[in-house]
Amino acid sequence: MNKPVFFNTLGRKKEPFEPIDGKLARFYSCGPTVYNYAHIGNLRAYIFSDILKRSLIYNNIRVKHVMNITDVGHLTSDADEGEDKMEKGAQREGKTVWEIADHYTQSFKEDIAKLNILEPDIWCKATEHIEEQIAQVKKLEENGLTYKTSDGIYFDTSKLDDYRKLSGQNTEDLKAGARVEMGEKKNPTDFALWKFSPKDHKRAMEWDSPWGVGFPGWHLECSAMSIKYLGDQFDIHTGGIDHIQVHHSNEIAQAEGSTGKKPWVKFWMHGEFLVLDKGKMAKSGENFIILKTLEDKGFDPLVYRYMCLTAHYRQQLTFSWDALETAKNGFERIKTKILDLKQQKAPNADSPATMSKHEATFLAAINDDLNMPKALAALWDMLKDDSLSGEKRRMLAERFDEILGLSIKEIGTDSIPDEILTLADQRQIARENKDWATSDSIRDDIKSKGYIVDDIKDRYTLRKA
Ligand code: AMP
Ligand code: ZN
Repeated sequence: MNKPVFFNTLGRKKEPFEPIDGKLARFYSCGPTVYNYAHIGNLRAYIFSDILKRSLIYNNIRVKHVMNITDVGHLTSDADEGEDKMEKGAQREGKTVWEIADHYTQSFKEDIAKLNILEPDIWCKATEHIEEQIAQVKKLEENGLTYKTSDGIYFDTSKLDDYRKLSGQNTEDLKAGARVEMGEKKNPTDFALWKFSPKDHKRAMEWDSPWGVGFPGWHLECSAMSIKYLGDQFDIHTGGIDHIQVHHSNEIAQAEGSTGKKPWVKFWMHGEFLVLDKGKMAKSGENFIILKTLEDKGFDPLVYRYMCLTAHYRQQLTFSWDALETAKNGFERIKTKILDLKQQKAPNADSPATMSKHEATFLAAINDDLNMPKALAALWDMLKDDSLSGEKRRMLAERFDEILGLSIKEIGTDSIPDEILTLADQRQIARENKDWATSDSIRDDIKSKGYIVDDIKDRYTLRKA
Protein backbone atom coordinates (compact mmCIF):
# COMPACT_ATOMS: atom_id res chain seq x y z
CA MET A 1 0.00 0.00 0.00
CA ASN A 2 1.34 3.46 -0.82
CA LYS A 3 2.15 5.83 2.03
CA PRO A 4 0.14 9.01 2.55
CA VAL A 5 1.84 12.18 1.41
CA PHE A 6 0.87 15.43 3.11
CA PHE A 7 1.76 19.06 2.53
CA ASN A 8 3.86 20.20 5.47
CA THR A 9 3.65 23.93 6.17
CA LEU A 10 7.04 23.54 7.84
CA GLY A 11 9.20 23.43 4.72
CA ARG A 12 6.24 24.07 2.40
CA LYS A 13 6.34 20.84 0.47
CA LYS A 14 4.61 17.47 0.29
CA GLU A 15 6.29 14.74 2.35
CA PRO A 16 5.52 11.07 2.93
CA PHE A 17 3.97 10.50 6.32
CA GLU A 18 5.07 7.90 8.80
CA PRO A 19 4.60 8.05 12.56
CA ILE A 20 7.78 9.02 14.41
CA ASP A 21 7.68 5.80 16.43
CA GLY A 22 6.53 3.78 13.41
CA LYS A 23 3.28 2.80 15.14
CA LEU A 24 1.11 5.54 16.53
CA ALA A 25 0.34 8.91 14.92
CA ARG A 26 0.16 11.47 17.70
CA PHE A 27 -1.98 14.31 16.54
CA TYR A 28 -3.09 17.63 18.06
CA SER A 29 -5.76 19.97 16.69
CA CYS A 30 -6.29 23.50 17.93
CA GLY A 31 -9.83 23.48 19.23
CA PRO A 32 -12.55 26.10 19.56
CA THR A 33 -12.64 29.24 21.66
CA VAL A 34 -15.91 28.76 23.47
CA TYR A 35 -17.36 32.25 23.85
CA ASN A 36 -19.86 31.86 21.01
CA TYR A 37 -21.12 29.27 18.53
CA ALA A 38 -18.61 27.93 16.02
CA HIS A 39 -19.33 29.42 12.60
CA ILE A 40 -19.30 27.22 9.52
CA GLY A 41 -15.78 28.50 8.67
CA ASN A 42 -14.52 27.16 12.00
CA LEU A 43 -16.34 23.92 11.31
CA ARG A 44 -14.58 23.57 7.96
CA ALA A 45 -11.29 23.47 9.90
CA TYR A 46 -12.57 20.51 11.95
CA ILE A 47 -13.94 18.69 8.91
CA PHE A 48 -10.44 18.97 7.45
CA SER A 49 -8.75 17.52 10.55
CA ASP A 50 -11.39 14.78 10.67
CA ILE A 51 -10.65 13.74 7.08
CA LEU A 52 -6.95 13.71 7.95
CA LYS A 53 -7.54 11.53 11.00
CA ARG A 54 -9.88 9.14 9.18
CA SER A 55 -7.37 8.82 6.33
CA LEU A 56 -4.64 7.76 8.77
CA ILE A 57 -6.94 5.15 10.28
CA TYR A 58 -7.90 3.97 6.76
CA ASN A 59 -4.17 3.50 6.12
CA ASN A 60 -4.03 1.25 9.20
CA ILE A 61 -2.15 3.82 11.24
CA ARG A 62 -3.27 4.06 14.85
CA VAL A 63 -4.05 7.61 15.95
CA LYS A 64 -4.02 9.38 19.30
CA HIS A 65 -5.90 12.61 18.81
CA VAL A 66 -6.01 15.48 21.28
CA MET A 67 -8.09 18.64 20.99
CA ASN A 68 -8.16 21.59 23.34
CA ILE A 69 -11.04 23.75 24.44
CA THR A 70 -9.98 27.35 24.84
CA ASP A 71 -12.13 28.34 27.79
CA VAL A 72 -9.80 30.92 29.30
CA GLY A 73 -10.63 34.52 28.74
CA HIS A 74 -8.03 35.73 26.30
CA LEU A 75 -7.79 39.11 24.77
CA THR A 76 -9.28 39.76 21.40
CA SER A 77 -6.16 40.28 19.30
CA ASP A 78 -3.10 38.13 18.72
CA ALA A 79 -1.14 40.98 20.22
CA ASP A 80 -3.02 40.28 23.44
CA GLU A 81 -4.74 43.62 23.40
CA GLY A 82 -8.41 44.53 23.51
CA GLU A 83 -11.34 43.05 25.37
CA ASP A 84 -11.52 39.61 26.90
CA LYS A 85 -13.62 37.36 24.66
CA MET A 86 -15.06 35.21 27.43
CA GLU A 87 -15.98 38.19 29.63
CA LYS A 88 -17.54 39.88 26.62
CA GLY A 89 -19.62 36.74 25.97
CA ALA A 90 -20.69 36.61 29.63
CA GLN A 91 -21.76 40.27 29.59
CA ARG A 92 -23.68 39.78 26.35
CA GLU A 93 -25.71 36.92 27.81
CA GLY A 94 -25.88 37.86 31.48
CA LYS A 95 -24.13 34.62 32.53
CA THR A 96 -20.87 33.74 34.24
CA VAL A 97 -17.82 33.02 32.11
CA TRP A 98 -17.96 29.40 33.30
CA GLU A 99 -21.57 29.04 32.14
CA ILE A 100 -20.64 30.56 28.79
CA ALA A 101 -17.74 28.12 28.39
CA ASP A 102 -19.93 25.11 29.30
CA HIS A 103 -22.75 26.12 27.01
CA TYR A 104 -20.61 26.70 23.92
CA THR A 105 -18.43 23.65 24.57
CA GLN A 106 -21.61 21.57 24.57
CA SER A 107 -22.93 23.16 21.40
CA PHE A 108 -19.57 22.64 19.68
CA LYS A 109 -19.69 18.94 20.56
CA GLU A 110 -23.24 18.71 19.20
CA ASP A 111 -22.17 20.40 15.95
CA ILE A 112 -19.27 18.05 15.34
CA ALA A 113 -21.47 15.03 16.07
CA LYS A 114 -23.97 16.23 13.45
CA LEU A 115 -21.11 16.59 10.97
CA ASN A 116 -19.87 13.05 11.66
CA ILE A 117 -16.57 14.44 12.97
CA LEU A 118 -14.96 11.81 15.17
CA GLU A 119 -14.34 12.97 18.71
CA PRO A 120 -10.73 13.28 19.82
CA ASP A 121 -9.38 10.64 22.19
CA ILE A 122 -8.69 13.42 24.67
CA TRP A 123 -10.45 16.74 25.15
CA CYS A 124 -8.45 19.14 27.29
CA LYS A 125 -9.60 22.42 28.74
CA ALA A 126 -7.19 25.29 29.19
CA THR A 127 -8.64 26.14 32.62
CA GLU A 128 -7.89 22.63 33.87
CA HIS A 129 -4.20 22.88 32.90
CA ILE A 130 -3.04 26.12 34.47
CA GLU A 131 -0.34 24.28 36.44
CA GLU A 132 1.19 22.80 33.28
CA GLN A 133 1.15 26.21 31.62
CA ILE A 134 2.89 27.85 34.58
CA ALA A 135 5.49 25.05 34.57
CA GLN A 136 6.24 25.74 30.91
CA VAL A 137 6.77 29.45 31.55
CA LYS A 138 9.09 28.56 34.44
CA LYS A 139 11.21 26.42 32.10
CA LEU A 140 11.34 29.22 29.55
CA GLU A 141 12.42 31.55 32.32
CA GLU A 142 15.17 29.14 33.42
CA ASN A 143 16.30 28.92 29.80
CA GLY A 144 16.66 32.70 29.67
CA LEU A 145 13.96 33.29 27.07
CA THR A 146 11.60 35.59 28.99
CA TYR A 147 11.43 39.12 30.35
CA LYS A 148 9.05 41.01 32.58
CA THR A 149 7.12 44.18 31.76
CA SER A 150 4.61 46.09 33.86
CA ASP A 151 1.75 43.95 32.48
CA GLY A 152 3.21 40.48 32.21
CA ILE A 153 5.92 37.97 31.38
CA TYR A 154 6.93 37.99 27.71
CA PHE A 155 8.77 35.65 25.37
CA ASP A 156 11.88 37.25 23.85
CA THR A 157 11.70 36.00 20.27
CA SER A 158 15.05 37.61 19.36
CA LYS A 159 16.70 34.84 21.43
CA LEU A 160 15.65 32.26 18.82
CA ASP A 161 17.39 31.96 15.47
CA ASP A 162 14.43 30.30 13.78
CA TYR A 163 11.30 31.97 15.17
CA ARG A 164 9.90 32.47 11.66
CA LYS A 165 10.56 28.97 10.36
CA LEU A 166 6.86 28.11 10.12
CA SER A 167 5.62 31.34 8.58
CA GLY A 168 8.62 31.74 6.29
CA GLN A 169 8.17 35.43 6.95
CA ASN A 170 11.23 37.69 7.06
CA THR A 171 11.76 40.84 9.08
CA GLU A 172 11.05 43.03 6.04
CA ASP A 173 7.63 41.38 5.50
CA LEU A 174 6.88 42.00 9.10
CA LYS A 175 7.80 45.66 8.91
CA ALA A 176 5.67 46.04 5.81
CA GLY A 177 2.75 44.32 7.58
CA ALA A 178 0.28 45.68 10.04
CA ARG A 179 1.50 48.11 12.67
CA VAL A 180 2.46 46.18 15.75
CA GLU A 181 1.45 47.53 19.13
CA MET A 182 4.83 47.46 20.89
CA GLY A 183 3.98 48.67 24.40
CA GLU A 184 6.98 47.64 26.49
CA LYS A 185 7.81 44.75 24.17
CA LYS A 186 11.41 44.46 22.99
CA ASN A 187 10.59 42.99 19.58
CA PRO A 188 7.43 43.14 17.44
CA THR A 189 7.03 39.35 17.52
CA ASP A 190 7.41 39.02 21.31
CA PHE A 191 4.24 37.79 23.02
CA ALA A 192 2.75 37.42 26.47
CA LEU A 193 3.23 34.15 28.33
CA TRP A 194 1.53 35.35 31.51
CA LYS A 195 -0.53 38.50 31.91
CA PHE A 196 -1.03 40.22 35.24
CA SER A 197 -4.60 40.97 36.29
CA PRO A 198 -5.32 44.70 36.20
CA LYS A 199 -4.98 46.36 39.63
CA ASP A 200 -8.29 48.21 39.40
CA HIS A 201 -10.42 45.32 38.20
CA LYS A 202 -11.03 41.75 39.35
CA ARG A 203 -11.12 39.40 36.43
CA ALA A 204 -13.68 36.59 36.27
CA MET A 205 -10.90 34.11 35.56
CA GLU A 206 -7.52 34.56 37.22
CA TRP A 207 -4.97 32.38 38.96
CA ASP A 208 -2.02 32.67 41.31
CA SER A 209 1.43 32.25 39.80
CA PRO A 210 5.10 32.78 40.73
CA TRP A 211 4.83 36.17 38.96
CA GLY A 212 1.58 37.35 40.54
CA VAL A 213 -2.16 36.89 39.99
CA GLY A 214 -3.10 36.77 36.35
CA PHE A 215 -3.89 34.49 33.44
CA PRO A 216 -1.97 32.66 30.72
CA GLY A 217 -1.25 34.08 27.27
CA TRP A 218 -3.44 32.35 24.69
CA HIS A 219 -0.69 30.46 22.85
CA LEU A 220 0.49 28.73 26.00
CA GLU A 221 -2.30 26.22 26.52
CA CYS A 222 -1.71 24.40 23.22
CA SER A 223 2.03 23.84 23.69
CA ALA A 224 1.63 22.88 27.37
CA MET A 225 -1.32 20.49 26.92
CA SER A 226 -0.12 18.83 23.70
CA ILE A 227 3.24 18.04 25.34
CA LYS A 228 1.45 16.66 28.38
CA TYR A 229 -0.67 14.26 26.35
CA LEU A 230 1.48 13.56 23.29
CA GLY A 231 5.06 13.97 24.49
CA ASP A 232 7.96 16.35 23.78
CA GLN A 233 7.88 15.50 20.09
CA PHE A 234 4.90 14.33 18.09
CA ASP A 235 3.60 13.79 14.58
CA ILE A 236 0.91 16.24 13.45
CA HIS A 237 -0.50 19.59 14.51
CA THR A 238 -3.44 21.15 12.66
CA GLY A 239 -5.32 24.43 12.54
CA GLY A 240 -6.54 27.06 10.10
CA ILE A 241 -4.07 29.07 8.00
CA ASP A 242 -4.65 32.12 10.19
CA HIS A 243 -2.73 30.30 12.94
CA ILE A 244 0.55 29.97 11.03
CA GLN A 245 2.00 33.38 11.54
CA VAL A 246 1.33 34.00 15.21
CA HIS A 247 -0.37 31.25 17.20
CA HIS A 248 1.57 28.29 15.84
CA SER A 249 4.85 30.18 15.55
CA ASN A 250 4.46 31.07 19.21
CA GLU A 251 3.54 27.52 20.17
CA ILE A 252 6.75 26.29 18.53
CA ALA A 253 8.79 28.95 20.34
CA GLN A 254 7.30 27.87 23.68
CA ALA A 255 7.63 24.13 23.10
CA GLU A 256 11.13 24.09 21.64
CA GLY A 257 12.24 26.84 24.01
CA SER A 258 11.13 24.86 27.06
CA THR A 259 12.15 21.31 26.03
CA GLY A 260 15.16 22.14 23.85
CA LYS A 261 13.98 19.44 21.43
CA LYS A 262 13.68 20.21 17.72
CA PRO A 263 11.58 19.80 15.72
CA TRP A 264 8.74 19.75 18.21
CA VAL A 265 6.12 18.71 15.65
CA LYS A 266 6.99 16.89 12.44
CA PHE A 267 3.98 17.82 10.30
CA TRP A 268 2.17 21.15 10.47
CA MET A 269 -1.00 21.07 8.41
CA HIS A 270 -3.30 24.03 7.83
CA GLY A 271 -6.77 24.31 6.33
CA GLU A 272 -7.64 27.21 4.02
CA PHE A 273 -10.52 29.50 4.86
CA LEU A 274 -14.17 29.33 4.05
CA VAL A 275 -15.12 32.74 2.70
CA LEU A 276 -18.46 34.26 1.87
CA ASP A 277 -19.32 35.50 -1.59
CA LYS A 278 -20.08 38.79 0.10
CA GLY A 279 -17.33 39.44 2.58
CA LYS A 280 -15.66 37.75 5.50
CA MET A 281 -17.15 35.16 7.80
CA ALA A 282 -18.02 37.18 10.90
CA LYS A 283 -18.68 36.43 14.54
CA SER A 284 -21.94 38.37 14.50
CA GLY A 285 -24.58 39.81 12.18
CA GLU A 286 -25.69 38.60 8.78
CA ASN A 287 -22.30 37.05 7.99
CA PHE A 288 -22.35 34.93 11.15
CA ILE A 289 -23.49 31.59 9.77
CA ILE A 290 -23.61 28.65 12.13
CA LEU A 291 -24.73 25.07 11.62
CA LYS A 292 -28.17 25.90 12.99
CA THR A 293 -28.59 28.61 10.33
CA LEU A 294 -28.18 25.85 7.72
CA GLU A 295 -30.52 23.48 9.53
CA ASP A 296 -33.17 26.20 9.90
CA LYS A 297 -33.11 26.55 6.12
CA GLY A 298 -33.72 22.82 5.75
CA PHE A 299 -30.18 21.64 5.01
CA ASP A 300 -28.87 18.42 6.50
CA PRO A 301 -25.50 19.18 8.22
CA LEU A 302 -23.99 16.41 6.08
CA VAL A 303 -24.72 18.49 2.99
CA TYR A 304 -22.27 21.01 4.43
CA ARG A 305 -19.74 18.25 5.09
CA TYR A 306 -20.19 17.10 1.48
CA MET A 307 -19.71 20.68 0.28
CA CYS A 308 -16.40 20.89 2.15
CA LEU A 309 -15.26 17.67 0.49
CA THR A 310 -15.78 19.17 -2.95
CA ALA A 311 -12.80 21.50 -2.42
CA HIS A 312 -9.21 20.64 -1.52
CA TYR A 313 -8.44 21.66 2.05
CA ARG A 314 -5.67 23.99 0.86
CA GLN A 315 -8.05 25.86 -1.43
CA GLN A 316 -10.33 28.64 -0.36
CA LEU A 317 -13.96 27.60 -0.47
CA THR A 318 -16.60 30.21 -1.16
CA PHE A 319 -19.86 29.73 0.67
CA SER A 320 -23.16 30.87 -0.81
CA TRP A 321 -26.66 29.47 -0.50
CA ASP A 322 -26.55 28.58 -4.19
CA ALA A 323 -23.31 26.68 -3.70
CA LEU A 324 -24.88 24.82 -0.78
CA GLU A 325 -27.91 23.97 -2.92
CA THR A 326 -25.56 22.61 -5.61
CA ALA A 327 -23.82 20.51 -2.95
CA LYS A 328 -27.21 19.25 -1.80
CA ASN A 329 -28.03 18.13 -5.33
CA GLY A 330 -24.68 16.37 -5.66
CA PHE A 331 -25.15 14.59 -2.34
CA GLU A 332 -28.71 13.63 -3.29
CA ARG A 333 -27.44 12.09 -6.53
CA ILE A 334 -25.07 9.91 -4.56
CA LYS A 335 -27.84 8.91 -2.16
CA THR A 336 -30.23 8.05 -4.97
CA LYS A 337 -27.56 5.98 -6.67
CA ILE A 338 -26.79 4.08 -3.46
CA LEU A 339 -30.48 3.49 -2.88
CA ASP A 340 -30.78 2.20 -6.40
CA LEU A 341 -27.84 -0.16 -5.83
CA LYS A 342 -29.42 -1.42 -2.62
CA GLN A 343 -32.55 -2.41 -4.47
CA GLN A 344 -30.70 -3.99 -7.39
CA LYS A 345 -31.06 -7.71 -7.28
CA ALA A 346 -29.50 -8.61 -10.64
CA PRO A 347 -26.38 -10.70 -10.05
CA ASN A 348 -23.24 -9.50 -11.82
CA ALA A 349 -20.01 -11.37 -12.26
CA ASP A 350 -17.92 -9.38 -9.81
CA SER A 351 -14.27 -9.14 -10.57
CA PRO A 352 -12.00 -8.77 -7.53
CA ALA A 353 -9.48 -7.01 -9.79
CA THR A 354 -12.05 -4.35 -10.66
CA MET A 355 -12.85 -3.83 -7.02
CA SER A 356 -9.17 -3.47 -6.16
CA LYS A 357 -8.71 -1.02 -9.01
CA HIS A 358 -11.45 1.25 -7.61
CA GLU A 359 -10.06 0.96 -4.09
CA ALA A 360 -6.59 1.83 -5.32
CA THR A 361 -7.84 4.90 -7.23
CA PHE A 362 -9.72 6.13 -4.17
CA LEU A 363 -6.77 5.56 -1.85
CA ALA A 364 -4.33 7.22 -4.26
CA ALA A 365 -6.49 10.36 -4.16
CA ILE A 366 -6.67 10.32 -0.37
CA ASN A 367 -2.97 9.70 0.03
CA ASP A 368 -2.10 12.52 -2.34
CA ASP A 369 -2.44 15.18 0.33
CA LEU A 370 -6.13 14.44 0.97
CA ASN A 371 -7.40 15.18 -2.51
CA MET A 372 -11.08 14.85 -1.68
CA PRO A 373 -12.47 16.22 -4.98
CA LYS A 374 -10.54 13.42 -6.71
CA ALA A 375 -11.71 10.91 -4.11
CA LEU A 376 -15.34 11.91 -4.76
CA ALA A 377 -14.75 11.47 -8.50
CA ALA A 378 -13.34 7.99 -7.74
CA LEU A 379 -16.48 7.23 -5.71
CA TRP A 380 -18.67 8.23 -8.67
CA ASP A 381 -16.66 6.21 -11.19
CA MET A 382 -17.03 3.18 -8.95
CA LEU A 383 -20.77 3.71 -8.40
CA LYS A 384 -21.33 3.90 -12.15
CA ASP A 385 -19.28 0.80 -12.96
CA ASP A 386 -21.97 -1.63 -14.13
CA SER A 387 -19.48 -4.47 -14.30
CA LEU A 388 -19.81 -4.69 -10.51
CA SER A 389 -22.95 -5.86 -8.73
CA GLY A 390 -25.00 -3.38 -6.74
CA GLU A 391 -24.00 -5.16 -3.57
CA LYS A 392 -20.26 -4.92 -4.22
CA ARG A 393 -20.54 -1.25 -5.19
CA ARG A 394 -22.44 -0.55 -2.02
CA MET A 395 -19.81 -2.38 0.00
CA LEU A 396 -17.06 -0.31 -1.59
CA ALA A 397 -19.01 2.92 -1.02
CA GLU A 398 -19.34 2.00 2.66
CA ARG A 399 -15.62 1.32 2.84
CA PHE A 400 -14.86 4.74 1.24
CA ASP A 401 -17.29 6.29 3.68
CA GLU A 402 -14.90 5.43 6.51
CA ILE A 403 -13.13 8.57 5.29
CA LEU A 404 -15.95 10.52 3.65
CA GLY A 405 -18.16 10.29 6.75
CA LEU A 406 -21.40 10.79 4.81
CA SER A 407 -23.38 8.07 6.64
CA ILE A 408 -23.65 6.01 3.45
CA LYS A 409 -24.62 2.90 5.41
CA GLU A 410 -27.70 4.67 6.69
CA ILE A 411 -28.90 5.62 3.22
CA GLY A 412 -31.53 3.17 2.22
CA THR A 413 -34.71 1.36 2.48
CA ASP A 414 -34.45 1.21 6.25
CA SER A 415 -35.21 4.92 6.35
CA ILE A 416 -38.34 4.34 4.26
CA PRO A 417 -41.35 3.16 6.28
CA ASP A 418 -42.62 -0.40 5.75
CA GLU A 419 -45.99 0.92 4.63
CA ILE A 420 -44.36 2.70 1.67
CA LEU A 421 -42.24 -0.33 0.79
CA THR A 422 -45.34 -2.56 0.75
CA LEU A 423 -47.19 -0.08 -1.47
CA ALA A 424 -44.22 0.06 -3.84
CA ASP A 425 -44.12 -3.74 -4.04
CA GLN A 426 -47.88 -3.85 -4.79
CA ARG A 427 -47.35 -1.25 -7.49
CA GLN A 428 -44.52 -3.28 -9.00
CA ILE A 429 -46.83 -6.33 -9.22
CA ALA A 430 -49.49 -4.15 -10.88
CA ARG A 431 -46.92 -2.92 -13.41
CA GLU A 432 -45.77 -6.46 -14.15
CA ASN A 433 -49.45 -7.31 -14.79
CA LYS A 434 -49.72 -4.20 -16.99
CA ASP A 435 -52.44 -2.90 -14.68
CA TRP A 436 -51.51 0.73 -15.30
CA ALA A 437 -54.55 2.22 -13.54
CA THR A 438 -53.69 0.51 -10.24
CA SER A 439 -50.00 1.28 -10.70
CA ASP A 440 -50.74 5.01 -11.20
CA SER A 441 -53.11 5.18 -8.29
CA ILE A 442 -50.58 3.54 -5.93
CA ARG A 443 -47.88 5.95 -7.21
CA ASP A 444 -50.19 8.88 -6.25
CA ASP A 445 -50.86 7.31 -2.87
CA ILE A 446 -47.10 6.94 -2.25
CA LYS A 447 -46.58 10.56 -3.29
CA SER A 448 -49.30 11.78 -0.94
CA LYS A 449 -47.37 10.02 1.85
CA GLY A 450 -44.19 11.95 1.01
CA TYR A 451 -42.27 9.55 -1.26
CA ILE A 452 -41.48 9.39 -4.94
CA VAL A 453 -41.13 6.22 -6.89
CA ASP A 454 -38.89 6.31 -9.97
CA ASP A 455 -39.09 3.52 -12.53
CA ILE A 456 -35.82 2.32 -14.00
CA LYS A 457 -36.36 -0.32 -16.70
CA ASP A 458 -37.91 -3.25 -14.83
CA ARG A 459 -37.02 -1.91 -11.38
CA TYR A 460 -37.87 1.09 -9.26
CA THR A 461 -36.28 3.27 -6.60
CA LEU A 462 -37.85 5.17 -3.77
CA ARG A 463 -36.86 8.54 -2.38
CA LYS A 464 -38.27 11.19 -0.10
CA ALA A 465 -40.34 13.81 -1.95
P1 AMP B 1 -11.30 29.85 16.90
O1 AMP B 1 -12.48 29.25 17.60
O2 AMP B 1 -11.47 31.27 16.51
O3 AMP B 1 -10.00 29.60 17.65
O4 AMP B 1 -11.15 29.08 15.52
C1 AMP B 1 -11.28 27.69 15.42
C2 AMP B 1 -10.64 27.19 14.14
O5 AMP B 1 -11.30 27.74 12.99
C3 AMP B 1 -9.17 27.57 13.98
O6 AMP B 1 -8.46 26.43 13.52
C4 AMP B 1 -9.18 28.66 12.92
O7 AMP B 1 -7.98 28.68 12.21
C5 AMP B 1 -10.34 28.22 12.06
N1 AMP B 1 -11.01 29.27 11.26
C6 AMP B 1 -11.39 30.51 11.67
N2 AMP B 1 -12.07 31.15 10.69
C7 AMP B 1 -12.13 30.29 9.63
C8 AMP B 1 -12.70 30.35 8.31
N3 AMP B 1 -13.37 31.41 7.87
N4 AMP B 1 -12.55 29.27 7.51
C9 AMP B 1 -11.88 28.16 7.93
N5 AMP B 1 -11.34 28.04 9.16
C10 AMP B 1 -11.46 29.09 10.01
ZN1 ZN C 1 -3.76 26.17 19.46
